[in-house]
Amino acid sequence: TEEALNQSEKLRSLGELTGGIAHDFNNLLTVVRGSAELLKNQTLSDEAKARHINAIVETADRASELTGQLLSFARRQPLQPKRVDLNAVILDMTELLKRTLGGEVSILKMPGADLWPVRADPTQLENLILNAAINARFAMEGAGTLTLATQNVGGPNGEEVCLSISDTGVGIAPEILDHVFEPFFTTKGPGEGTGLGLSQAYGFAAQSGGRLEIRSEVGRGTTLSLHLPRAEAELASSTGREDKGADLDV
Ligand code: ADP
Repeated sequence: TEEALNQSEKLRSLGELTGGIAHDFNNLLTVVRGSAELLKNQTLSDEAKARHINAIVETADRASELTGQLLSFARRQPLQPKRVDLNAVILDMTELLKRTLGGEVSILKMPGADLWPVRADPTQLENLILNAAINARFAMEGAGTLTLATQNVGGPNGEEVCLSISDTGVGIAPEILDHVFEPFFTTKGPGEGTGLGLSQAYGFAAQSGGRLEIRSEVGRGTTLSLHLPRAEAELASSTGREDKGADLDV
């Protein structure tokens, strides 16, 4: 059954997750232990001591960042879906995205007209967009264009809204593209990436009744497309009552 399949998928990703944590965490522990061991040496100069202490602090920070992201993944906090307008979300995030991307990257917004609302957890949605922007910045190495486009789409899956996030970065080779949604898959160096961003985004899309797709061309760039089902009409409108009427009640 679908239930059983979901369960086995969950177990599988949990297994991958645990293996991944053990590996990354062990690497970090090795660094901490090594530096602590070196600090035992009584004859170290102050400068050398400071260097080892810094390494310990930095590595511990990385480790807590890793477990933090991991917890939010493993906890799978219950989503709190709300009715959201994707165009408004993008507009609200523009300043944050500008700061994230830096001055050399331009941001192009292509908001679809008469966009349908969707139902999704706004915090997770913002996380997804921010994570995509961080990936894009990495791929564009400073200069390029990030395009955020929204669009109503009808089709075999019913009425959906599509948000696409495209960059003009280095792109992703096909053999890597096959793995980007796996938890802990990363091509970044230690401390630069955890490999959790896209797997989290993938899970979020599925849990929201939608899906996440990625297309990429080496040397041209990458497009991430989030499809979410159109939100059902509010109950209030079907009974002819205004949303705000309930607590105003004059
Ligand atoms: P992380 O960014 O921590 O590595 P992600 O799950 O967000 O984790 O991404 C996984 C991998 O997918 C990245 O390491 C990178 O190789 C690739 N990737 C993701 N987004 C892009 C992008 N916009 N351009 C090029 N490569 C990307």
